[in-house]
Amino acid sequence: MKFSNLFGKTQKNISTNAESISHQLMLRAGFILQIAAGVYAYMPIAYKAFRKIENIIRNELNKSGAQEVHMPALQPVDLWERSNRKESYGPVLFQLKDRRERELVLGPTHEEVITQMVKSNVESYRDLPLNLYQIQVKFRDEARPRAGLLRGREFHMKDAYSFDMDQNGLDKRYDQMVEVYKSIFQKCGLPVLVVQADSGAIGGKDSQEFILTTDVGEDTIIYCDSCKYVANSEKAVFLHEELPIEDELNLTEVLTPSVKTIEDVSKFFNSDTKKTIKSVMYMINDELVMVSIRGDLEINEIKLSNIFKGKDLRLATDEELIKSDLLPGFISPVGLHNITKIHFLFDNSLKTGNNFISGGNKPDSHYSNVNIPRDILVSEFNDLALADVGYKCTECVNTLSTTKGVEVGHVFKLGTSYSESLGAFYTDEDGSQKPILMGCYGIGVGRVLAAAIEQNHDEKGIIFPPEISPYQIHLVGINLNDNAVAESCNSIYNNLYDNDYEVIFDDRDESAGVKLADADLMGFPIRMVVSLRSLKNNSVEIKLRSESESFLVEINKLEEYLSSIR
Ligand code: ATP
Ligand code: MG
Repeated sequence: MKFSNLFGKTQKNISTNAESISHQLMLRAGFILQIAAGVYAYMPIAYKAFRKIENIIRNELNKSGAQEVHMPALQPVDLWERSNRKESYGPVLFQLKDRRERELVLGPTHEEVITQMVKSNVESYRDLPLNLYQIQVKFRDEARPRAGLLRGREFHMKDAYSFDMDQNGLDKRYDQMVEVYKSIFQKCGLPVLVVQADSGAIGGKDSQEFILTTDVGEDTIIYCDSCKYVANSEKAVFLHEELPIEDELNLTEVLTPSVKTIEDVSKFFNSDTKKTIKSVMYMINDELVMVSIRGDLEINEIKLSNIFKGKDLRLATDEELIKSDLLPGFISPVGLHNITKIHFLFDNSLKTGNNFISGGNKPDSHYSNVNIPRDILVSEFNDLALADVGYKCTECVNTLSTTKGVEVGHVFKLGTSYSESLGAFYTDEDGSQKPILMGCYGIGVGRVLAAAIEQNHDEKGIIFPPEISPYQIHLVGINLNDNAVAESCNSIYNNLYDNDYEVIFDDRDESAGVKLADADLMGFPIRMVVSLRSLKNNSVEIKLRSESESFLVEINKLEEYLSSIR
């Protein structure tokens, strides 16, 4: 490819709302164009990288015996009603009507459609197992489409679905897919962490995520160096510190003017935040939910939402609290257990310790010496706490650490929920009808590309891993008005091109500065500069994008050099 023919230009001024580094770099390099919020067009260079990732995924899946299918993005809403997911997906589901007023959705994922396909084609145990996949566009009306290809509203996913006769088969298929995924990311040149994950609205039991660690990823990963426990903080568990039990003291009401936050409270009472109870009010399903947790911990909203089958939740507003006779800033469950319109939840952290401090449910007041169950009736405790760095590992009691990352892949054991709700059964050897066991496995193709850039860049631009780089060689001609330079460049370019090297030749009438800056920005692995200076030594100057030093290679030894690093 000659740069002068390339569709797409590097950009000097880019939108200021590009928050993530991969988004900024892809816009600056002219790789993608925003068409609407969370909707992007790929320019040729980005699409080449996208296709490379897609091909690696396709090859590895084909090798594993999976079969490629293609499903429609447009789906009848009744499929989603039958699987009970129209509601759980909520506003994320794009819905529309056709000219006859029939309701449709744009698929955010394809469990419903694939189950329908399998239902029509599988009769007996002889037709199983199956592993089917597609690489398809998905639509999700994300609350906050952001960071370019990292979180789009229209994006490409490789989604695979497995179908087995029994749990044993599903377990094997799932483990096999975890290995296939590891090999996909290894072939993309991208080291991933495989972490325990929450399975979200898609449901199911076992679930793992493939995380590319980056400085500013959306996901927080909790890990233990000593026993190798790794989990997304959405799911991570930790060992609760057991608080000592003191003699139970009398419940006391204390006047606490303007003391509202947990920090204010512990300062006022000259006590550790561990001795306080924090109560936070949420609205879930139009119901007021009071979550109480030890004051030094934070609430994990994913764990909380899972108790309500993945329903959306939000903090209750002060108006909603006041309407229900609750006092923002001074709330606690003490003395409120008769109020039936509130759903009370308690974190496991409140299982130990006593003589706590909590809100007084009156203006400017707190209780001290709150004791469970004497002052608060608790029917059950739940795990509702967010794990954090420094907490203890449940497996080996070592201290947990944390890192940031981007989820690029996700595998779930779905079990029989879809096959039962959508009627995908098979006849077993003994003639009985059984629901098929399903697994599902996703990789966001565009997100892999963006996350790769998020992980591999410097202040000058992208540093593509060679495996997914759109071009391997960026040939730069400096001073192309000079015949010797122009001739050398053309001959090197033609030679490389004829020998199947993926080479882009910057033949533009631009300054050396512009060309070299663009080469750094676009980030292809090998930069080759031909100039009057390099030709004095009958050489090209080579600089690997991942290294800082350049070196000369004689033109007649170029082929040899390139084969040595291929
Ligand atoms: P997230 O938690 O980031 O919203 P998810 O868990 O809802 O993602 P899955 O349903 O597990 O996503 O989708 C499988 C894969 O598809 C994800 O691992 C990710 O790589 C990709 N993906 C999901 N949502 C998006 C999106 N909005 N834009 C780009 N890729 C996405
Ligand atoms: Mg996921």
